[in-house]
Amino acid sequence: MPGADQQTVERVLTRVDTDLDHARERLFELLRIPSISTEPDHKADMLRAAEWLQAQLRELGLTVSIIPTPGHPVVLGHHPGPAGGKAPKVLFYGHYDVQPADPLELWNSPPFEPQLVDGPRGKRIVARGAVDAKGQSMMFIEALRAWKTAGGGIPAPVIVLMEGEEEVGSPNLEPFLKAHRAELAADFALISDTNMWDIDTPALSTRLRGMCNCEVRLKGPRMDLHSGLFGGSALNPVNVLAKILGELHDKDGRIQVPGFYDDVRAVTPEQAREWEALGFDEAAFLKGVGLTTPGGEKGLPGLQRIWARPTADINGIWGGYSGPGSKTIIPSEAGAKVSFRLVPDQNPHAIFEGFQAFVRERLPAGMEVTFQGFGMAMGIEIDTNTPWAKAAKDALQQEYGRPAVMIGSGGTIPVVEQIKRVLGIDSLMMGFGLEDDQIHSPNEKYELTCFHKGTRSHALLLGKLAG
Ligand SMILES: [Zn+2]
Repeated sequence: MPGADQQTVERVLTRVDTDLDHARERLFELLRIPSISTEPDHKADMLRAAEWLQAQLRELGLTVSIIPTPGHPVVLGHHPGPAGGKAPKVLFYGHYDVQPADPLELWNSPPFEPQLVDGPRGKRIVARGAVDAKGQSMMFIEALRAWKTAGGGIPAPVIVLMEGEEEVGSPNLEPFLKAHRAELAADFALISDTNMWDIDTPALSTRLRGMCNCEVRLKGPRMDLHSGLFGGSALNPVNVLAKILGELHDKDGRIQVPGFYDDVRAVTPEQAREWEALGFDEAAFLKGVGLTTPGGEKGLPGLQRIWARPTADINGIWGGYSGPGSKTIIPSEAGAKVSFRLVPDQNPHAIFEGFQAFVRERLPAGMEVTFQGFGMAMGIEIDTNTPWAKAAKDALQQEYGRPAVMIGSGGTIPVVEQIKRVLGIDSLMMGFGLEDDQIHSPNEKYELTCFHKGTRSHALLLGKLAG
């Protein structure tokens, strides 16, 4: 990709700088709409936010529709880019819904009355949605605007997809992607919903863990039994379940489900060095949540264990009596929720099978077991040698004067996996959030410098894609 000429790019960047106050004011307009997807009372606000976005995108020359779903609508805009251009087509994904704002009393200012306040690193924007994801999404839209105003037009073909249900688990997104597959065809997806490494160090998120959620239930005696009359003879399902789940990890923290590590790839030495160089302080990380001893597999650095190794966790466990005082019974049933965070190439369905085999192998005769699996997602690793990933690295290097770091995330962003599976394309996760942005919490904020430099980075990326 030859990219746009330097003078044009400079004009576009200058435009981003001089228009910053207006861009921030436009973001404030969107932040004032309380588009809380989970609360039925805010249905009209959801539509208002969708219509606001539609108007913004139309102003930039996109063809935009608001497409209903069984839940909240999707805003979908298209721009063909320059006539005869050869730039790759970008599918930008963002979301206009936000989390509820309560507890309201913990906010320093009303959550839907955005403020620009002083912080230790300059001004910051405080409001629900400031970063997640209205602020992050508006950067791309503002970059398009700067290109249209000062760069002679939007330099690459773009699709903008703004979802209204990300904060409620995107229940209608996959059917939407399937129904609009042809219309959504693009070379890659671009998502700004992740973090930088720190305020001076840009990052691309190149890995996400997958997920396998299981529920296991054991049924023992037909009813709760007197632990005096039956104890010593009757099998106790809570004892049995606790013992089996206690064997999930060996003494070195390795997960004992058969075949669990078959598809797990070791981190390349190059990647390991790069993460090591980030200087992650695990002791401080744990201290922040009141812990001292690290868990997980022994002998591996913290970032590898969080970003590149699979885990097994008991999320909840129940059975028998847990009220005040005592009740001397052998319970009839026991159950647990167990989730596995997975890494690329591990198949969540195979892991679910493996977990069932692990439990059955250890189950005494006469005890019944049932399983349920849900929320299955593959782990993701993004190829950073694609032309667009290289363009993003160049854009970030140019803006921040230092190389972007390739970071992982221990979490799961289902949309990335859905885009990969349904549309067959990778997502470039170029985000500008910071760890202390308090997303989903009171006083959510977005540093103005992140918004500004993030917009410039998006503008630079568009310039590099231009053919
Ligand atoms: Zn969120």
